[in-house]
Amino acid sequence: MSVLVIDVGTTGLRAALVTREGTVEHLRYEKCAPTSPFPGLVEFDARAMADAVLRVAAEVVSLADRIDGIGITTQRASTVMWDSQTLQPLAPGLGWQDLRTVGDCIVSRAEHGLVLAPNQTATKAKWLLANTPIADRSSVRIGTIDSWIAAVLSEGSLHVTDHSNAAVTGLFSLDTMNWSPRICELMGVDVAMLPSIVPSSGVVGNATALVGAPPIACLIGDQQSSLVGQGCVTPGQTKITFGTGGMLDVATGHDAPRSPQRSSGGTFPIVAHSSQSGISYGAEAIMLSAGSNVEWLCDDLGLIDSPSDSDTLAATVPTTDGVVYVPALLGLGTPQWDYGARGTLLGITRGTTRAHIVRAVLEGIAHRGADLVDAAKADTGCEITTLRIDGGMSRNATFVQALANATGLPVEVSPVTEATTLGAGFLAGVAVGTWNSLGEAVRTWAPRQTVTPTDHLDRETWREAVSRAAGWIPELSGLDF
Ligand code: ADP
Repeated sequence: MSVLVIDVGTTGLRAALVTREGTVEHLRYEKCAPTSPFPGLVEFDARAMADAVLRVAAEVVSLADRIDGIGITTQRASTVMWDSQTLQPLAPGLGWQDLRTVGDCIVSRAEHGLVLAPNQTATKAKWLLANTPIADRSSVRIGTIDSWIAAVLSEGSLHVTDHSNAAVTGLFSLDTMNWSPRICELMGVDVAMLPSIVPSSGVVGNATALVGAPPIACLIGDQQSSLVGQGCVTPGQTKITFGTGGMLDVATGHDAPRSPQRSSGGTFPIVAHSSQSGISYGAEAIMLSAGSNVEWLCDDLGLIDSPSDSDTLAATVPTTDGVVYVPALLGLGTPQWDYGARGTLLGITRGTTRAHIVRAVLEGIAHRGADLVDAAKADTGCEITTLRIDGGMSRNATFVQALANATGLPVEVSPVTEATTLGAGFLAGVAVGTWNSLGEAVRTWAPRQTVTPTDHLDRETWREAVSRAAGWIPELSGLDF
């Protein structure tokens, strides 16, 4: 028994099988990067994305003995508008990083008290409708990537999204767990254009575009999928994905969050996943740059040849010798939400070496990880006793040790670098009977390695360094999304 998982990330997409034993097999990958026609604009070719999904999925299907169901996990909030008759996009897809609607977000807040971020779907949908010639509004469909891929796999018969994806669009009401008629009206979006909202785990139709037409049994946002894929299903269980950026997600249980807005500690409430038996919530904390700081060390400073060299070079020195790096290349997310903060290197002397700087970069990212854990604890009241991690940086032993030391927590490293694939596999598998419950599915999960704290990183000096990095570009620091 196995589940086909389709995982559409920001720069590439994968298809793979998740087995009953919880392993990932026959992974196929294609690059599918968005383009930036102008600074701040991020677009993608939704048809090319769909064709690549069909290619990798068909290849994995051809290698499988049997597919019980399909799980679809995707980058969130990126927006596609298509024609229901032709299944062709009506405009370029707008990536979640696209900032063309910043002005609209500022106006929405000032005029309607509506807090929207430009990376959410709401103002992107508004922009697409306002800037695309449309002959017949009744055949217009708007959705996030999960909806688009479900439509393509079902050859147009499905227009669905799940609670975890819908809840980050900005068009959703956590009170009714459905589209907000008021926000849709303000955005000029007919609710009929939007997908039906279905549970994350449950059969919604068949992927007739694939051999055997397997049932589509899960739709889930990428970070929520990674949370489940690292076995985090009971309140307090927490993961951080350290990729280009860093995302902490913590499971908080079945009680709905008090407010849909950002909490005082800088975390956001999320729907972790849903099924016929109910909704599981969570909270998310965001580090705007993580591995991108390591890329900067390689590609721009030339201090190391590859990201993994940061591990070996940093390990040649026992400490940073007083150097502190604040990884604020794009500003700081949780807890400060200061878009005008900038990367800062403090404490340099004539004796500072390449190794000290590289170590300071890894330790700075580890401190940011600890900041996210502190914010998640304060905002949710959950006790966090262990931290699970995945993503490219989870392969870096020096970094993982620094993270354990900064947080004071044991760090469990995911057995697969991309846990996202496993989560959608678990949720789809539960819906089609591969496992009897999510609890049974996640019992197949075990860390590749557990790293315990060996020392303390100096959090007080770190906080002082953050205060020096803050507010560097006041106009950007004044933005509040
Ligand atoms: P994404 O899914 O965001 O594209 P990945 O999880 O694939 O990211 O991780 C890629 C990021 O992780 C890059 O920014 C890279 O610099 C960083 N990275 C990869 N391997 C290592 C390593 N061994 N040590 C430190 N950073 C690494």
